[in-house]
Amino acid sequence: MTRPPGDSDRDDSSTESGPVVCARCGAQAAQPPPLTWTCSVDKGVRSYFCGTCSRDNLRAIEGRLDSDWW
Ligand SMILES: [Zn+2]
Repeated sequence: MTRPPGDSDRDDSSTESGPVVCARCGAQAAQPPPLTWTCSVDKGVRSYFCGTCSRDNLRAIEGRLDSDWW
């Protein structure tokens, strides 16, 4: 989507292909993940959470957020 021209064959494409896997329960979904899924990037590592885990995770994430995030 926001790829620089001529950069489509970089090895980061390996993380873009294949099904997305919930980092919590291991559920899989085809690309692109459903709207209920959540994508979070931590230290450059992308993690997906399914709808169920997103809800559970949201509370945990909000409880851990630094105040300056808001
Ligand atoms: Zn899950």
